[in-house]
Amino acid sequence: MTHRRRKRLIAGNWKMHGLRADLAEVGESARGLRDRQDRLSASGVTAALCVPFTLISAAAEAIRETPLAIGGQDCHPEPSGAHTGDVSAEMLADAGASMVILGHSERRRDHRETNAIIRAKLAAARRAGLLAIVCVGETEPERDAGAAVQVVSRQLRESLDDNVDASNTVVAYEPVWAIGTGRTPTAAQIAEMHGALRALLKDRFDEEGEKVRILYGGSMKPENARMILAVDDVDGGLIGGASLKAESFLAIVDAAL
Ligand code: PEP
Repeated sequence: MTHRRRKRLIAGNWKMHGLRADLAEVGESARGLRDRQDRLSASGVTAALCVPFTLISAAAEAIRETPLAIGGQDCHPEPSGAHTGDVSAEMLADAGASMVILGHSERRRDHRETNAIIRAKLAAARRAGLLAIVCVGETEPERDAGAAVQVVSRQLRESLDDNVDASNTVVAYEPVWAIGTGRTPTAAQIAEMHGALRALLKDRFDEEGEKVRILYGGSMKPENARMILAVDDVDGGLIGGASLKAESFLAIVDAAL
């Protein structure tokens, strides 16, 4: 797969799961990737686990000298200040993260994050040298109303700023109704959305928009990963539940190789 225009990224999202004892799974995923180093290099596939803040430093230690990267799941727009309970992009980088998930639907829902807030966080991630994974996705009622493409397009337009490029930003399409439910869109539905997002990216960022990766997320697992990754304009996956165990995470990485 060396001819692929965009190199695939398989990123795990551990959400609010994981105690220090679970670092064993990080270590196992990291070792599994090290064993696949040649195939990863040949295909350009990269892999990351976005763990809770409390595990970032220890996870960064556990993945040293392996191909696995560590990420966070949110950051504050400011580098530091009086924001009790928040964590800045600089702090994530300092702890050993190289990327951060922004605008996940659970944060949009639980913390009322708007597109404008996500755009500010995106600038913060870039300032700190973190790769940002910006999430967009429609709810089930929005899809049923025939508004999925319109809703997701607006999220993308408003969540990105003009300084996006392929080296600092990845987009993740995550239909809310597919997250943690075991339900997945059809290949045609994924293709329609990824095609629409690609057209928007090209329209706004010209040639660079062709290079920005678009991941799919929502109940991706070893059984469906190959089918999803074969869809046009799917450049990897954002994986929740199946990333918690090294065995299933590595099986999804294998599907991308
Ligand atoms: C996610 O939360 O980003 C996600 C895709 O979760 P799951 O794979 O568990 O549906």
